[in-house]
Amino acid sequence: MSLLVVLEHDRGALAEASLEALTAGRDLAAKLDTALDAVIVAPPGDASAGPTAAWIDEAGRYGAETVHVVVADQLIDYGPDAAAASVLQLADDTDADAVLAAGTDRGNEVLAQIAARADAPFVANALAVDVGDPWSITRVQWGGSLLEDVQLSSDRPLLTVAHHGVAAEPAVEPVEPAVAVFEPELDEADLVTMVCDRDVLSQGVTLATAPVVVSGGRGVGSAEGFEALEELAGMLGGVVGCSRAVTNNGWRPHTDQVGQTGTRIAPDIYIAAGISGAIQHWVGAMASKRILAINTDPEANMVAKADYAVIADLHEIIPAISAEIRRRRS
Ligand SMILES: Cc1cc2nc3c(=O)[nH]c(=O)nc-3n(C[C@H](O)[C@H](O)[C@H](O)COP(=O)(O)OP(=O)(O)OC[C@H]3O[C@@H](n4cnc5c(N)ncnc54)[C@H](O)[C@@H]3O)c2cc1C
Repeated sequence: MSLLVVLEHDRGALAEASLEALTAGRDLAAKLDTALDAVIVAPPGDASAGPTAAWIDEAGRYGAETVHVVVADQLIDYGPDAAAASVLQLADDTDADAVLAAGTDRGNEVLAQIAARADAPFVANALAVDVGDPWSITRVQWGGSLLEDVQLSSDRPLLTVAHHGVAAEPAVEPVEPAVAVFEPELDEADLVTMVCDRDVLSQGVTLATAPVVVSGGRGVGSAEGFEALEELAGMLGGVVGCSRAVTNNGWRPHTDQVGQTGTRIAPDIYIAAGISGAIQHWVGAMASKRILAINTDPEANMVAKADYAVIADLHEIIPAISAEIRRRRS
């Protein structure tokens, strides 16, 4: 019996969020009076050397008593189905009390797959957990704009821990964990999705790291309308972003979308043109240091939240800003 924490890794690096999950798992394991175990699926190389050995040591620093290393010829890289099948088989094999992972895209994906396979409930992005009967859990919803209290009745609770909801803290007394190799049985259905190759999509400044983001919404009106935003972003050393109305219309790719289901940004300056500022957009933009809204509607939510606002047609204002920058630089 144990509480099993799934450790997430990619290209030889352990996800920081997994240390948060281990910290939360240690607390829960103590409340449940059970052992804290960790599992690494598809480790890069041998458990006795390299990154895998370092992660096993790290898991021990966070109190894991046993680290299960899941290996199989088919486990070449990340695959949500294969990871879920492996962890579920391991949980059955070790009679795990509960399974935890980090509340990242991958953590949530793997746990959701486990829940579907086990026909069991799953609580994503938990912040606080009381292990009574049933378990009472507070979890983050809507990209952080809503906290929800839920009750979970399950023979084997499945949870992810909200990223940044718990600070990662090593155990007071580190453990030298036992290492157990586990070989799952995987079939074709477990291998339908697997990372096989990687292409670098963007280099240099990205939406998530750009100091200036010039975003357009439905008010831009067309894919061609973004040319003026591209020009301004280029002059300011920034990148173009957009709202979901824009990606839904096929004017820009989803990689440009700011928001709950897009990218969270934190630029020095966010220029939001023709964007109403719906909550799902706002949660992705609210970490911006300064916001300039350009909107024809003085009542728009984005105008109310912005540091500066221009109430006018963006098709006049954006080229005018670019022209003024050109004039001053010439
Ligand atoms: C589960 C879920 C997840 C979502 N995730 C996201 C997300 O990640 N990101 C996101 O953006 N949305 C997301 N949405 C959609 C969100 O609710 C809004 O529908 C969307 O953000 C609206 O986009 P918009 O502001 O471009 O369009 P609108 O709300 O239609 O606003 C257009 C704005 O443009 C202004 N305007 C029009 N013409 C001009 C002009 N010529 N000059 C200046 N201003 C003009 C209007 O006054 C208006 O304020 C999500 C919704 C759901 C349900």
